[in-house]
Amino acid sequence: MARVQLVEVTKRFGSTVAVDRVSLDIADGEFLVLVGPSGCGKSTLLRLIAGLEDVTEGAVYIGDRNVNDVPPKDRDVAMVFQNYALYPHMTVYDNMAFGLRMRKVPRDEIDRRVREAAETLGLTNLLKRRPAQLSGGQRQRVALGRAIVRDPKVFLMDEPLSNLDAQLRVQMRTELARLHQRLGTTTIYVTHDQVEAMTLGDRIAVMRDGKLQQVATPREIYARPANVFVASFIGSPPMNFVRGVVERGDGEVRFAGAGLTCRLEGELAEAAAAYLAGGGAGSAAGSREVLLGVRPEHIHARPADAADGAGAHMVATVEVVEPLGAETFVYVAAGSVALTVRVDPRLAVRPGDRLALTLDAEHLHLFDAATEQSLR
Ligand code: ATP
Repeated sequence: MARVQLVEVTKRFGSTVAVDRVSLDIADGEFLVLVGPSGCGKSTLLRLIAGLEDVTEGAVYIGDRNVNDVPPKDRDVAMVFQNYALYPHMTVYDNMAFGLRMRKVPRDEIDRRVREAAETLGLTNLLKRRPAQLSGGQRQRVALGRAIVRDPKVFLMDEPLSNLDAQLRVQMRTELARLHQRLGTTTIYVTHDQVEAMTLGDRIAVMRDGKLQQVATPREIYARPANVFVASFIGSPPMNFVRGVVERGDGEVRFAGAGLTCRLEGELAEAAAAYLAGGGAGSAAGSREVLLGVRPEHIHARPADAADGAGAHMVATVEVVEPLGAETFVYVAAGSVALTVRVDPRLAVRPGDRLALTLDAEHLHLFDAATEQSLR
C-alpha cells in the first residue's frame, strides 16, 4: 500500500515556519493536488515527503512505514520538477535508463521498463534523440518517463508543467490524467494552476502560511469553501464579497448590506439563524456582521431597461467588459459595491449600460466577518 500520511508535520527554517502542523492522509492511488500562494510551503511539504528536507516535528509515513530517518533514495518515491534537467549529452533512452543503471537493475529489465514507459508516453520514436532535438513538451515527457521507469510507490510533482506554453500545458495535463488512470500510482502534485488542480485532483489541499486551510474534492472546495481565503483562491475570476449583516425581518432571515437585501434560503438560512442565535448580547438587536460571497457565474444579469430592475436584487452600471469567447465577464458597480458577473456572450453589453442583477439564492456563501470562516 502506498498510502502517504503526514502527522502534525512542522518544518522550520530558522524563525520561518514553512510548514505548520500539517496532518494529511493520502490514500493509496490518490491524486492529491497542493495549491496555495507563493511561499505558503507547498514545495517544502513535497520535499519533506521526498526526504530532501528533514521534518522539525511530526512524522511522515509512506506505505505505513515511518520514513523520518529514511534517506530519499530508499523512500521509493520519484520526483518530477518544473525544470526537469535532462542530461544534455545523453539520448532519451539513456536519460530514462540512467537512474535504473545507478541502481544496478539488470540490463534487460532496464530495456523492458524504458520501452514500456516510452510507449506509454509516445516517445518510442524519439529514444535515440538528445534533449536539444526535442520540443519542450517532449522533454517534459522524458522527465516523466524517468520517474515512471522507477515504478515508485509515490510520484511527487512540483509544478511539472509550468515551463510549457499554454497549449502544451493543456495537452500534457490530459496526458497526466490518462497516465494516472493507467498507472494508479499515488501522486502528490504542486501547482499554481487552478484548472490543473480542479481537473487532476481527486482531492485538493489548499495551504496558506504553512497551514492547511481545507482538504476536499474539487467539487466540494468550489461549492463549500471553508473560509474566505479558500473561497477567493479557488475560482476564476474570484468570488465576489459584499460586507453586511444577517438579520431577521418579516419572518425571514436575510442578508443586508451595501444597498443589497437578499432573502436567505434552506441550509444557508438555517446556518445564518444559528449564527444569529450564537451572537450573544452583541447581536441583541438581531443582526450580525458577515461577508456574503457569490461567484460571478451565480449572478444573473439582464438589461435594466427591459424591466427596470423589477424583482432583481440590484441595478448596477457596467464598467468593463471582457469577452472570452465561450463566456463574457462584466465588471459592474453599484454604489460602494463592485462585482464581477458572468453573462451570456450573446448579451450585448457596453460600458455605461445598466444591468439588473439577481443573485442565485442556492449558491450564496456566508462568512463570519471576524473569523472569515464559513457559517456552514
Ligand atoms: P512557490 O509557490 O513560490 O514555489 P511554495 O509554496 O512552494 O512557494 P516554499 O518554497 O515551500 O513555498 O517556501 C515556504 C517558506 O519557507 C517560504 O517563506 C520560504 O522562503 C521558506 N524556505 C523555503 N526553503 C527554505 C530554505 N532552504 N531556507 C530558508 N527558508 C526557506
